Amino acid sequence: MKIIDLRSDTVTQPCDEMRRVMANAEVGDDVTGDDPTVSRLEQYAAELLGKEAGLFVPSGTQSNLIALMSHCQRGDEYIVGSKAHCYWFEGGGAAVLGSIQPQTIVEQADGSLDLSQVAAVIKPDDQHFAKTRLLCLENTTWGRPLPMAYLTQAASVVKDHQLAMHLDGARVFNAAVHHGVDVKRITQHFDTVSMCLSKGLAAPVGSVLVGSEKLIATARRWRKMLGGGMRQSGILAAAGIFALENNIERLALDHQHAAFMAAQLNDSEYFKSHGIEVTSQTNMVLFELPEKVGVKLAVGLADRGIRIYPGDNQRLVMHKDISTDHVEFAVEQITRVLSA
Ligand SMILES: *Cc1c(COP(=O)(O)O)cnc(C)c1O
Repeated sequence: MKIIDLRSDTVTQPCDEMRRVMANAEVGDDVTGDDPTVSRLEQYAAELLGKEAGLFVPSGTQSNLIALMSHCQRGDEYIVGSKAHCYWFEGGGAAVLGSIQPQTIVEQADGSLDLSQVAAVIKPDDQHFAKTRLLCLENTTWGRPLPMAYLTQAASVVKDHQLAMHLDGARVFNAAVHHGVDVKRITQHFDTVSMCLSKGLAAPVGSVLVGSEKLIATARRWRKMLGGGMRQSGILAAAGIFALENNIERLALDHQHAAFMAAQLNDSEYFKSHGIEVTSQTNMVLFELPEKVGVKLAVGLADRGIRIYPGDNQRLVMHKDISTDHVEFAVEQITRVLSA
């Protein structure tokens, strides 16, 4: 039985063509700067995102940590959403390894941070306080694209207070495709951007951090210290280049699949009778089930070849390996299991 895996967009399999470019990649020792394919990926990503330089890293977690450590010194502070990946899901790395204090703010319904709250937590230059250095935003955040106008407003607050701004853009291309804009319109507001090759872009491994030449030179030192200096990593970078060349535009299909699934579920008897609203903006379908129903759904779907996480707060994720047929089948099975 073919498994339909809706747990995340990290579960994709590299296609034959991607495996071919990986097998044929020209490689060298990247720590000595000798891997032409890694250098090509770093330059290409920097160009796409409108920055001077790029750094290929093993994961999004390491990319965010390196960015934070490059912007902030020991005793500095970054402002971040209370459920942001780089605060909530990265083991407290910035505090543990960077001695950087997080100042969290609870996100608004659209995933943005209220900018008057941001301004209110920026600390004055006083020996009692950590030095506020950085605002960290996430786009998309839980599948929600930040409004374009909000980015301009955030950049202006950051500028007024002479902070830097980092974007956790693990899924920044989903945001760009959603808004129908060149991704540079989003990234232009940020000093650094981290983006994942291994989410919807469907590469097996890796993220790229982009920013100024100067900051990326600092970042390269932190990458080595954190154990992210890789050798013949052109084999992985080749997959990243392939992903950037071939898998950005197709994200629109994932968004269509998510919108279709959300509409179908909203129309179904179970969701209507329980007053549950299903939402989707990019590649994620979100809904909140009654208590313990998430387990029932996950177990029931597993018997029908569909994988989801068993929580009540559901997030079903569309990706390259989910076809329109899969989406239709999944909708049918979800409504059946829930109605049983
Ligand atoms: C996945 C993700 C990361 C981290 O990426 P890993 O490669 O899993 O470490 C960071 N931020 C966001 C928003 C993510 O979704």
